[in-house]
Amino acid sequence: MASFHLHIEGQVQGVGFRPFAYRLAKKLNVRGWVSNGTDGVHIALTGPEGNIRKFYHEATVHPPANARIMRHSFEEVQDADYPDFQIVESTSDTSPNLLLTPDLGLCDACRQEILDPLNRRHNYAFTTCTDCGPRYSIIQQLPYDREYTTMRPFEQCAPCQDEYNHPENRRYFSQTNSCPACGIELALLNNEGKLISKSQDVVIALTCTGLEHGKIVCLKGIGGYLLLADASNEDAIKLLRERKHRPAKPFAVLYPSIERIREDAHVSREEEEALCSIEAPIVLLKWKEHHRAAVCRRQISPGLNKIGVMLPYTPLLALLMDKWKKPILATSGNLSGSPIYFQDQDALTNLAPVADFFVTNNRNIVVPQDDSVIQFSPIARQRIVIRRSRGYAPTFLPHPMIGRTDTVLAMGGEMKSSFSLLRQGNVYVSQYLGDLENYHTQASYHTTLDHLLHLFNASPEKVIVDLHPAYFASAAGRKLARNFGAGVVTVQHHLAHFCAVLGENKLLNCPDPVLGVIWDGTGWGDDGGVWGGEFFTYSHHAFERIEHLPYYDHLLGDKFSREPRLCALSLCKDVPEAVTLLKDKFTEKEWSLYTRMI
Ligand SMILES: [Zn+2]
Ligand SMILES: [Zn+2]
Repeated sequence: MASFHLHIEGQVQGVGFRPFAYRLAKKLNVRGWVSNGTDGVHIALTGPEGNIRKFYHEATVHPPANARIMRHSFEEVQDADYPDFQIVESTSDTSPNLLLTPDLGLCDACRQEILDPLNRRHNYAFTTCTDCGPRYSIIQQLPYDREYTTMRPFEQCAPCQDEYNHPENRRYFSQTNSCPACGIELALLNNEGKLISKSQDVVIALTCTGLEHGKIVCLKGIGGYLLLADASNEDAIKLLRERKHRPAKPFAVLYPSIERIREDAHVSREEEEALCSIEAPIVLLKWKEHHRAAVCRRQISPGLNKIGVMLPYTPLLALLMDKWKKPILATSGNLSGSPIYFQDQDALTNLAPVADFFVTNNRNIVVPQDDSVIQFSPIARQRIVIRRSRGYAPTFLPHPMIGRTDTVLAMGGEMKSSFSLLRQGNVYVSQYLGDLENYHTQASYHTTLDHLLHLFNASPEKVIVDLHPAYFASAAGRKLARNFGAGVVTVQHHLAHFCAVLGENKLLNCPDPVLGVIWDGTGWGDDGGVWGGEFFTYSHHAFERIEHLPYYDHLLGDKFSREPRLCALSLCKDVPEAVTLLKDKFTEKEWSLYTRMI
């Protein structure tokens, strides 16, 4: 007989770890308890030493599918006796140190249930289990327990409670468990906020009717509201572009199945895996030359040979697709330049001029997230994350900075912003938060940052900001540093990109020198000039800028960094052949104005 304590850190909450430990303990005839703490999962084990070691091996080598173990400790402790194995109440007496579990796409078992007329969750749009459902988007406080999420107001009915209590059930200890009798209510409203129906079947049927008639439907998803339109209806898409003030940027399309995607686009093995993964991102695919005429290619991605597609990742989208059966255009519910709306009243007020109907529900979203967007590089088939958000956020660098005990906050840049937090050796990278020149995006940046600092009870000792003094995030970082009494470190924009690549690729402690080539438009240089493209070396934790593009005239403020044609013009002004090539990128008026300026 022996007793051990196992402490596991990482992404171990909201992934079914406690029920998994319970079943494993029963199987191996080990007694003790398992509990969620704010620093991970704690397991006390007592029984024959061989069995405890088997438990340890299974729990750390074959944990639940969505768990990610970063560190663990396994120690023999003083003999303790327990009558059986139990899941005991969570504790919150330790300093928060957890990887937050991202939102998980609908699993196959839940998908089957909602489509099965004999199942009690038939057509229930908020079906979840320990393998799937919202996590990061609903968590208000650690540890991950229902009472600290926006599931709190929904009390489980007797059959749900039974599932929750039963170790053999898939929903044993599932914090998001609910059913049509006790769960979240769907509602269909018109764009004046007037209730049309609360019946699930009616809401879904009327949504289909609306789409059929070219209407634009605004639907509350996991990280915020989505705008939907019939992807085969040219007029509906034009209308959406007009109302959203989005003349040309491409839209994503939600498809009913991978087979249907194949009819319109080329899908590789990696792309299919990503589309069907639990993260369920938008994947950019190449259009097929002869795609099915039904989808309005020219209106969806004007002038591009690619289309962003995704598969239904929530029960609601799966139910909608089960009825509609055709591609639906799906885009973030925002106005051009503003962030995705995630609070009901905001969405209803601001998107009423865009949408004809709203499909909403009475569960709150804590932090906004768009759909993530990825693509694969054509030759190496490497995954490139274009927008890191739902399903991936908040991510962390895969190689924790072991031994670091300080808390550091990095505020990020101005465009396509996100921030990172180093805490207890883990690096958390926020979701994509949009361009910070927009007031609403700034508010959304603050909401997300405050939330993460609050979750981890974190007080940064150091705040890293971009060298550019006028960036919103730099100013906000300086202010935060004053409030926390933290030091401020400035970093040049291109150097920050190089550091990020080094971190992501585990090269921070690389013994050999590393060459970094950073081409990223313009950035404020530490010599006061405008930098345009750098060659850095990194060796023994020191950087050197060894080469760079020649300095060139910078005009028209930030318009310059947003329009590569202006950079090209400025760079090539003394090369007549290049200037000729550039001419048709401008109108005549622009051309005469800009050429006079340079
Ligand atoms: Zn599930
Ligand atoms: Zn229930």
